[in-house]
Amino acid sequence: RWPELAPRGGRSRLVVLAGPTAVGKGTVAAYIKQHHPEIHLSVSATTRAPRPGEVDGEHYYFVDDAEFDRMIAEGELLEYATVHNAHRYGTPRTPIERVLAEGRTALLEIDLQGARQVRAAEPSATLVFLLPPSWNELVDRLVGRGTEDAEERARRLRTARTELASQGEFDFRVVNDDVARAAGEVARLAR
Ligand code: 5GP
Repeated sequence: RWPELAPRGGRSRLVVLAGPTAVGKGTVAAYIKQHHPEIHLSVSATTRAPRPGEVDGEHYYFVDDAEFDRMIAEGELLEYATVHNAHRYGTPRTPIERVLAEGRTALLEIDLQGARQVRAAEPSATLVFLLPPSWNELVDRLVGRGTEDAEERARRLRTARTELASQGEFDFRVVNDDVARAAGEVARLAR
C-alpha cells in the first residue's frame, strides 16, 4: 500500500494526469475520453512518428523538429519536454485556454517534467499522480507489453523510481488497480 498524501490545494479545472512509465496513463486517459466526453482531453504535439492506427490531430499532432521549434518560439506550447531521451512532446496552449474559458475541464496526460511546468505556469492546476498497485506490478506491466528491449526497460525503470519519489509534489494520488475504477476517480477529481 502507498502512504496517504495530503492535497496541496490545486483544484482548478486544469487537470494534469502524470505518473511513471507503464503505469497505464494512456489507457486511463482513453477511458475517460470515451466515458466522460464532458472532459476535454488535450491533444499533444510530438516529433515522434505515428504508430500504426494513430491519427494526426486525434492521438497527437505529428510535427517535425522545425515545426516544434516554431511552436516553442511563438509561445504556442503551455509546456514541453523531451521524454525518455527521445522525442519532444508539448501541450498546445490555445485549445486549453478555450476549454477553460468555456467553463469546462481540460485533462492533460503528460510526463512529470511537463506536470512541473504546468504547476509553475498555473499554480492552481490540479495535479494527479497515477500509481501502480505495487512496484512489482509496474515491472510486470513494462515487461508484459514487450515494446522495449532490455536496455530501454532498465532505463525506464530507473526513471520510474525517480518519478515515484516525486509523488509528493502532486495534489492527489490514484492507484491504477483497475482502469474503470481509476478513470472514475480521476474524472471525479477533474469535476
Ligand atoms: P508515447 O510516445 O508512448 O505516446 O508517450 C510517451 C510519453 O510522453 C508518455 O509518458 C506521455 O505522458 C508523454 N507525453 C505525451 N504528450 C505529452 C506532452 O504534451 N507533454 C509532455 N511533457 N509529455 C507528454
